[in-house]
Amino acid sequence: MYRTHNCGELRISDVGKQVRLSGWVQANRDFGAMTFMDIRDRYGITQIVFSLEEDKQLCESARKLGREFVIMIDGKVRERTNKNLNRDTGEIEIQVNGLQILNSSKVPPFTIEDDTDGGDDIRMKYRYLDLRRSPVQKNILFRSKLSLETRKYLSDLDFAEIETPFLIKSTPEGARDFVVPSRMNAGQFYALPQSPQTFKQILMVAGYDRYFQIVKCFRDEDLRADRQPEFTQIDCEMAFVTQEEVLNTFEGLTRHLFRHTLGLELGDFPRMKYDDAMRLYGSDKPDLRFDMVFVELNEVVKNKGFSIFDEAELIIGIKVPGKADMTRKQIDELTDWVKRPQIGAKGLVSVRYNQDGIKSSVDKFYDQDALQQWVELFGATQGDLMLILSGETDKVRKQLGELRLEMGRRLDLMKKGEFKPLWVLDFPLLEWDDDTQRFYAMHHPFTSPKKEQIEAMASDDREVLKNLRADAYDLVINGVEIGGGSIRIHDRALQAKNFKLLGFTPEEAENQFGFLLGAFEYGAPPHGGIAFGFDRLCAVLNGQNSIRDFIAFPKNNQGRDMMIDAPSEIASAQLDELALKLNIK
Ligand code: ASP
Repeated sequence: MYRTHNCGELRISDVGKQVRLSGWVQANRDFGAMTFMDIRDRYGITQIVFSLEEDKQLCESARKLGREFVIMIDGKVRERTNKNLNRDTGEIEIQVNGLQILNSSKVPPFTIEDDTDGGDDIRMKYRYLDLRRSPVQKNILFRSKLSLETRKYLSDLDFAEIETPFLIKSTPEGARDFVVPSRMNAGQFYALPQSPQTFKQILMVAGYDRYFQIVKCFRDEDLRADRQPEFTQIDCEMAFVTQEEVLNTFEGLTRHLFRHTLGLELGDFPRMKYDDAMRLYGSDKPDLRFDMVFVELNEVVKNKGFSIFDEAELIIGIKVPGKADMTRKQIDELTDWVKRPQIGAKGLVSVRYNQDGIKSSVDKFYDQDALQQWVELFGATQGDLMLILSGETDKVRKQLGELRLEMGRRLDLMKKGEFKPLWVLDFPLLEWDDDTQRFYAMHHPFTSPKKEQIEAMASDDREVLKNLRADAYDLVINGVEIGGGSIRIHDRALQAKNFKLLGFTPEEAENQFGFLLGAFEYGAPPHGGIAFGFDRLCAVLNGQNSIRDFIAFPKNNQGRDMMIDAPSEIASAQLDELALKLNIK
């Protein structure tokens, strides 16, 4: 037997027991007469002591143990004189009376402690050592708990876990596919699924009623902190449901997950239409941990001789409470911030409501009476600062949305540990792309338009089509989209109509999605569903940004796995077998 207890288990009530522990040497402190050591495993750290007086030979072997050696010790639990109350085992230590080295270790390239001295690259290369660190282990174990709780909640509601294939058919819609050459069908390729979307719909046609899967999805896109080429979804679908039932079911899942992982009861899940989210926050995923709702000023600022506002399509601003004391210099710095190419505003108008009146950066054009009107629209009181941007509607909304978030960050309004969920509803069905001069599905081509708008889908008028709204919804928490889904089209004719709007010829639609159109001819029930970004959910629950910290073996920003060194070249014999020829310039 390698151990009677793990390294995180012993307490003051165990004093006097003879125990055996196994684990890794974290630290070795030699004080001559005594050698103290920390021994670590997944469950914690226990201090062990070797005494020269008690056993000289044992003490000498102990001094030779390096960091990360794997050892097994026998000893007696005793109360520590110098207690460490930050550690669960900090009231006791083990007086060692037996030692066995189970394996030695090279000196690790970085310290395996909570705060490590290793840079990103080296930790990715030696991922097995990074994974040994307690904060990383905590994240990975959190993830395991989250998937277990997901399964519990969904299986209690009769959701069946059904696997769908990874080798599927490539389609040009959506993101770029990862493709896999087929040896047995030379010149042909599988694609890895971007999501199991069509399969889960087919499962509804097949009568499985409620499906879920915690499943890998693959998208060949440029990477960021919150994006990986392979990522995990909690993918779900339900038959015979309305949007209302889907929202309630997955509000329930979210509440269950917060309750059973963080012990936290979430508050309301308010609902907001996409159009309102854009109008009031300039984003389809507003962070509701703070206000600063947009105020529209068109009516009160135009025709006063200030050409920038006169020419603008939209003039909007936010009220920053209590910040009228910002200095000129600080406002200039903020102006530079909004003018950076990443934000792209042309300028910033500021209004400070101070003791001595209302002061704006455009006083030349607007007198106190005019500014008083602005202040009323903002609902501002003395001490408040107002920040105003103008320009084309979509652009200026986005810019002010960024400024709002920046002010939230600067004023420390996005509190860690606070969670504000939000359903965003009624997304547009279609999105026009100027470059390719065509519509794309805002969510995906299987999303149902709102019932009352089906007729309008026959219109040729681009504006009418842009205004079509879908039964599509996103779940947002603290400004992060953690899930999205829709009620689906389940009627062959309507699906064909939607493909047509997306620029598919009937042949293309048949060629790519014929199986689904075919299935719709054999009694497809009304259905709808959702998918949660599982990695992101892990990160959001922990108040973190990077999903990489919640994936055991992530890729770096170049899409490489640094530990196994992938992707890599393959032998020419392998290429031949796949009937492939490289053409690298
Ligand atoms: N398959 C969709 C996605 O990956 C989610 C859904 O509509 O259920 O975004």
